[in-house]
Amino acid sequence: MKILVIGGAGYIGSHVSREFLDKGYSVTVFDNLSSGCNENLFDDASFIEGDILDYPFLLSTMKKGFGCVVHLAAFKAAGESMVKPEKYSTNNITGTINILNAMVESGIKRIVFSSSAAVYGDPQYLPIDEKHPVEPLNYYGFTKLEIERFFKWYDQLKGIKYASLRYFNAAGYDVDGRIKGLEKNPANLLPVIMEVASGIREILEIFGDDYETEDGTGVRDYIHVSDLSVAHVSSFEYIEKNGSSLTVNLGSETGISVKTMVKNAEEITGRHINAKVVGRRPGDSARLVASSEYAREILGWKARYSDVKTLIKSAWKVYLSHFNKFSP
Ligand code: UDP
Repeated sequence: MKILVIGGAGYIGSHVSREFLDKGYSVTVFDNLSSGCNENLFDDASFIEGDILDYPFLLSTMKKGFGCVVHLAAFKAAGESMVKPEKYSTNNITGTINILNAMVESGIKRIVFSSSAAVYGDPQYLPIDEKHPVEPLNYYGFTKLEIERFFKWYDQLKGIKYASLRYFNAAGYDVDGRIKGLEKNPANLLPVIMEVASGIREILEIFGDDYETEDGTGVRDYIHVSDLSVAHVSSFEYIEKNGSSLTVNLGSETGISVKTMVKNAEEITGRHINAKVVGRRPGDSARLVASSEYAREILGWKARYSDVKTLIKSAWKVYLSHFNKFSP
């Protein structure tokens, strides 16, 4: 079976591509390399450089006979989305409509999609399950929710089956060290900490320490990218086998605060993480922790690599391999 991984040269996409390849699928990566990089491409996958906003080219690619699209081509910085919503509208929403329309035109009937816990907004209860109300606090989360709504209609009207995977906070790197591409200008916590530890970023800004959490900093549910990747393959196999769509949370069910992440990173890297507390970032919640019960039940999935030490160690190995020369 041929799988088209859109955004497959990116941080999460490369891990997902690797997992499909390891499970014996034939993978073609489609990526515009705006966030992704050549270093994340594999010899045993094909690569097509292209943009989801270029509809004719996207369509001609999709006509090459794929059984499923995996769609990870999106901007994902929640903070930035509050300042540049137009960027998120165009790429995330228009880009996905192009993908769906090209799927209709080329006859592809299955899609696995990177959605986000950002669809939920401020938790009304914890842990958050899939029945939790959806009220995004940031524009990024809004784009993901809108896309999920398009999926429901395209399923009903055009028979496209989807797996919408609501990631909590993706982090870490392939534990076997097969993926080494660094994210460009990362905004997420762990890569920012890694950049500070590597000496290429001066300081970590901690966005608020006055939340109602153990130490006042934001608590998130960090989920290892390799765990996410396994869930992509299982959810594809689920929709293929059952012929029905799926919306599911993917999280570790553990909350880690910003300060806890920093403390663990200092222990593992042996380096001081220069940090200062600044104001809260618009669109942030105090605490987001998943219930992944549904994923366990329906996919037999569970996080295996998402403890804080494996998350940091696997990321640090990659940053060290790039930036060891900057060691203090
Ligand atoms: N965070 C921070 N400084 C940073 C980046 C993130 O304090 O430079 C905090 C952020 O406020 C949140 C947590 O780290 O509490 C995770 O943020 P991230 O941007 O990684 O993911 P999000 O939860 O927004 O999807």
